[in-house]
Amino acid sequence: MMTDKVGTVIEKVKNVTDKVGIYIHVPFCRSKCYYCDFCSECGTNKDTVDAYVDAACREIDAVAASVRETRGGARLPVADTVYFGGGTPTLLDPEQFERLILAVRRNFGVAEGAEITAEANPKTADREKLAAMRRAGINRLSIGMQSTHDGELRALGRIHNFADFERIFADAREVGFDNISADLMYGIPEQTEESFCESVRRLAAMDPEHISSYCLTVEEGTNFYRRRDSLNLPDEDEVASMYRKMSNILSENGYNKYEISNFAKVGRASRHNLKYWEYDDYIGIGVAAHSFFGGVRSSHSRDIEGYIRGENIIDDTQKIEGDEAVSEYVMLAMRLSRGVDIAKFKANFGLDFYEKFGGKIAKFSPEFIEKNEKNCRFTSEGMFVSNYILSEMLEF
Ligand code: SF4
Repeated sequence: MMTDKVGTVIEKVKNVTDKVGIYIHVPFCRSKCYYCDFCSECGTNKDTVDAYVDAACREIDAVAASVRETRGGARLPVADTVYFGGGTPTLLDPEQFERLILAVRRNFGVAEGAEITAEANPKTADREKLAAMRRAGINRLSIGMQSTHDGELRALGRIHNFADFERIFADAREVGFDNISADLMYGIPEQTEESFCESVRRLAAMDPEHISSYCLTVEEGTNFYRRRDSLNLPDEDEVASMYRKMSNILSENGYNKYEISNFAKVGRASRHNLKYWEYDDYIGIGVAAHSFFGGVRSSHSRDIEGYIRGENIIDDTQKIEGDEAVSEYVMLAMRLSRGVDIAKFKANFGLDFYEKFGGKIAKFSPEFIEKNEKNCRFTSEGMFVSNYILSEMLEF
């Protein structure tokens, strides 16, 4: 059943490339944060987690078999990034990480120097586990810090406090992680510009290689949504000002904003996440995971029990082509500070970017959009009005 379903997706692959990113979704958490609408369940027993890991290994085998068949038995693309996202991947045992990495290795191979990331919750990994994760091959951590203020963390329903983050960060350094990302959230109930800037400064002083920022959105079905009328959220202007201040503080501290919400020290941009924005191939494994492979987008269902049984795995598949592909490409690439790579655009679509969009771009001041023969990108001011400019360029 699984092979057939996955095969249906892969059957449509046309332009198979030699490198691929593998995303593995781990849909388990200790408890649900108040703002979270990600696919995760809480209080799952160990046997179910283990059965899920087995199912994910089987899916990796099945996807690889389908790709191999499509290529007439030729070599598979090599995984140059592997990303464990969630949920809370650090709820897995090191042995479960190992099994999943082994499944990727035996099917696709893992490129030398590949970036292998695991998202980590500060409360769910001690030094021993971190050391074992490193031995399993994980070489990058993405830690969900969110804030340095315990009151804000409590307001979000996070299970950890700032001291837990300081501990996991120190332990991770101690066992050899030299590539660490931390998440920062703004727009939190009761948060002020001052408290947010303090979080940004304290985090920057700890010197992680990478920082991802998220603006809180209140999603339907969450605890926050049910309490939405009584939440004291910063208003739109305050949130915009927080973003501006964060960008300045991080820039002063040597972080380069390489994407609207992501900041990195030189050479430390997330290679896996860049695949999303650069329209490169990635294969998603596990519930709620998404794939983009050979021009086909597919998404998994959120049914954990069904996934373990090998049923109801993929719930949507769509070939992206023509104007839709061009629009997607531009929308994703313009999130990056380097913007659209003109040569790559031509190689992908056989079109001259400025012939297609030059007229529309000319309507906007160079204060917002910069163009030369190599790239077309938003200026830092342009990033603030990017939604409007893109909707004009792409005629939403
Ligand atoms: S730890 Fe992450 S995935 Fe889990 S409930 Fe909190 S926000 Fe959601």
